[in-house]
Amino acid sequence: MTETVTKMYFCAICKKRHSIDLPIDFAEGKTHYPFVHFFIHKFQGEPEKHFEKIGADIITTLYIDKNLTIRGTEVALEDPNANIMNRDDAQTMITFLTNHINELQEAYDNLAEQYAKLLESVQLQK
Ligand SMILES: [Zn+2]
Repeated sequence: MTETVTKMYFCAICKKRHSIDLPIDFAEGKTHYPFVHFFIHKFQGEPEKHFEKIGADIITTLYIDKNLTIRGTEVALEDPNANIMNRDDAQTMITFLTNHINELQEAYDNLAEQYAKLLESVQLQK
């Protein structure tokens, strides 16, 4: 069994803190930090006040640092009427998109670095 650490994050939809267990090596081997972690959790807020959200799926995005600190949290309510994918398909798509976002971020970082070097060389010529 992989050792896990429990982290807390605040969910603006449930209006409470949730805990999440992450494998202790979860941040290893990422191309940059913080990295993106997507998952879905069920609405856990007060059902009396938000009966329309009972059982709702909440798409959760965590931005996690190399030391597993949660740097940012985004939550979005999944539209139940638009929910035509099953969870496995959704997870596959999310994994694909996450990898794609990471690749784009890497390409952006490279470009930004080259741009900075270019600016520097232009300034040297003045
Ligand atoms: Zn929540």
